[in-house]
Amino acid sequence: MEASRGCLHQCLHCPIPPVYGGRFFVVPLEVVIEDVRRQVAAGARHMTFADPDFLNGPGHALRIVTAMHAAYPDLTFDFTAKVEHLLEHRALLPRFAAAGCAFIVTAAESLSDAVLQKLDKGHTREDLQRALDAVRAAGITLRPSWLPFTPWATLDDYVELVDWLIAEDLVDCVEPVQLAIRLLVPPGSALLGRPEILPFLKELDAEAFTWRWEHPDPRMERLYRTVSEIVHWANHTRKPVATTFRQVRNAAYEAAGRRPAEALATHAERRPVAPRLTEPWFC
Ligand code: SF4
Repeated sequence: MEASRGCLHQCLHCPIPPVYGGRFFVVPLEVVIEDVRRQVAAGARHMTFADPDFLNGPGHALRIVTAMHAAYPDLTFDFTAKVEHLLEHRALLPRFAAAGCAFIVTAAESLSDAVLQKLDKGHTREDLQRALDAVRAAGITLRPSWLPFTPWATLDDYVELVDWLIAEDLVDCVEPVQLAIRLLVPPGSALLGRPEILPFLKELDAEAFTWRWEHPDPRMERLYRTVSEIVHWANHTRKPVATTFRQVRNAAYEAAGRRPAEALATHAERRPVAPRLTEPWFC
C-alpha cells in the first residue's frame, strides 16, 4: 500500500526524481485506512508501505500508523526510509515500534563515502552506522539495500562490505540479490548530466532502456557475473540466505586473490529468519 507518492529527494541514481522532480504527494488518511481495512478483510496480517520514502512526511506517517494500530492492534508493518530520515526522525522510531513496525528497509547503497558522494546519497558510512544503532535500539530490524556495482566501487569495497555484514550480524537482513545490484543508467537519469559517469558509459541499450557502462577493473565485471549467477540459482533453489552469502563472500575473496580470515559460522543456516519481504526483487 502507499501513504505517499514521489520523493522530496533527488538521489542521482534513482528513477523517481526524473518523474517527480523532487515533489511528493500524500494519500489522504481516510483513503489509506480504507485500503488497510480492505486488505485486512482479505486476510492480510502485515502491511508493506511501498512509498519511495515513508518519512518524507513524518507527521503523516505517524498519523497513519497510529490510526492503523488503534483499529488493528495485531497488524505489523514495514516501510522504506533513507538513512538521513532515520537519523532526523529517530525520536519517532520507538513509536513506530510500538505501533507494530517489524522492519525498515533503507537504501544504504555503499560503505564507501567516495561512492556515496558520487550518488549524492546525503549520508555517510558513519551516518549509516548511527542509523543502524538507532533502529536496533528501538527494537526494529533494519534491512539495508545495496548498490555494490557502480563504476566507482572497488573490489576492496566489496570485500569490506561482506565482512561488515558479518561483523554487524546483518547477513540474515540482506537479500542475496542485493549483493548483485548494478547501477542502472536509464535515459533521463540525473547521472547523465554528471561528468563522473562519462568515462565509463558505452552504448544505449534501447531495448533494455538503459545505458551500458563498464567497470574500469575487469575483476569487478567478472565478480558481477559470478555473483549474479549465484543469487539467481539461490533464488530458484530457495537456498538459505547464509549459504548463498558464504558463496558470494568466497567469490569476492577469490576475485581479490585473498582468503577470508575466518569462515562464516555454519550454524548461521539454522538461525531464526529475520523479518523480511517474501518478494526478494525489491530495490
Ligand atoms: S533513492 Fe530514495 S530518497 Fe533518493 S530520490 Fe530515490 S526514493 Fe528518494
